[in-house]
Amino acid sequence: LRMVSAAPLDDEPVSDEELRPQDLQGFIGQPRLKAQLELFLAAAQKRQVAPDHILLAGPPGLGKTTLAMIVAHELEVPIRITSGPAVQHAGDLASILSSLEAGEVLFIDEIHRLPRAAEELLYIAMEDFRVDVMVGKGPGASSIPLTLPRFTVIGATTREGMLPSPLRARFGFTAHLDFYPPEELEKLLERSARVLDIRITDQACVQLAQRSRGTPRIANRLLRRVRDWAIVHDLQEVGPDDVKAALSLYQIDSEGLDRLDLAVLNAIVRSFNGGPVGLNNLAAMVGEEAETVETVCEPYLVREGFLVRTPKGRVATKKAWEHIGLQPPDDVMK
Ligand code: ATP
Repeated sequence: LRMVSAAPLDDEPVSDEELRPQDLQGFIGQPRLKAQLELFLAAAQKRQVAPDHILLAGPPGLGKTTLAMIVAHELEVPIRITSGPAVQHAGDLASILSSLEAGEVLFIDEIHRLPRAAEELLYIAMEDFRVDVMVGKGPGASSIPLTLPRFTVIGATTREGMLPSPLRARFGFTAHLDFYPPEELEKLLERSARVLDIRITDQACVQLAQRSRGTPRIANRLLRRVRDWAIVHDLQEVGPDDVKAALSLYQIDSEGLDRLDLAVLNAIVRSFNGGPVGLNNLAAMVGEEAETVETVCEPYLVREGFLVRTPKGRVATKKAWEHIGLQPPDDVMK
């Protein structure tokens, strides 16, 4: 498993809890989104109603679950957590819905992965606060409409485009989470270091932030690995060189690229003279599944301007050539 994966690693979800900020004030960065949400929640509280349903859209690891928990905390209501893949039948969702308390937050992670029938049930529940409960089986079965108290759905999705538009239309507010700029990750790391009781210099936080791929989950994970280093080396305080040394052990470089990212760049540049090269050839060259290369490496490499996808294939940019220490040819893509 990759240290620089934005998805949680197997042992992580529990240990991550202590780093979750509880209220909006503790949530670092995303200032516009925070201001929007603050207004949205304040208005609902003033009107003394459960706020409209909220959709949180954005890549993994940027704080969607954290925000949902913060909303419930700010509203002082309980939160129920489920996910698209966890709901196997519409009936699973019906039973969750019919047990919600007034004002409760229902968080549905990966909402784009709900089964079709559950999705339809959810539209109705979100719109009319009603769920049809099936009674009996076979030809004698009938459905009894059950009125629900007002509640708030918070949906999270990494693939907003995959949500059917009738479902999307039922959210009163959609928040888009973006990757965090380095300054925000530095603040986040300072906060996490305080929570975890790690003494670390500002410059060390700068180095860590630079390697965290704009993603809080990765920043917190790298911080823990740096803590291991500090403990084993009896350090009083973590400095920038400790960060570099600890992370080079995990083969994470100054831009947050890992072994696989570098293998991809090296293959395009050295074996295909900078490209263009097709995805399958590239994947074969680095010994990975094409899907892994496409979904795990490329998004970050493209976002950071190391790689461009063209109709003819993948092309390494000037930045990629320089990053692996080679002189780019004159006609290289910028
Ligand atoms: P996924 O969709 O993969 O579940 P997510 O977007 O829901 O990811 P979270 O689980 O909310 O991500 O956040 C990952 C980790 O990063 C958590 O430990 C959380 O505490 C921390 N984190 C995320 N955003 C922030 C933030 N803005 N300020 C402080 N900590 C944050």
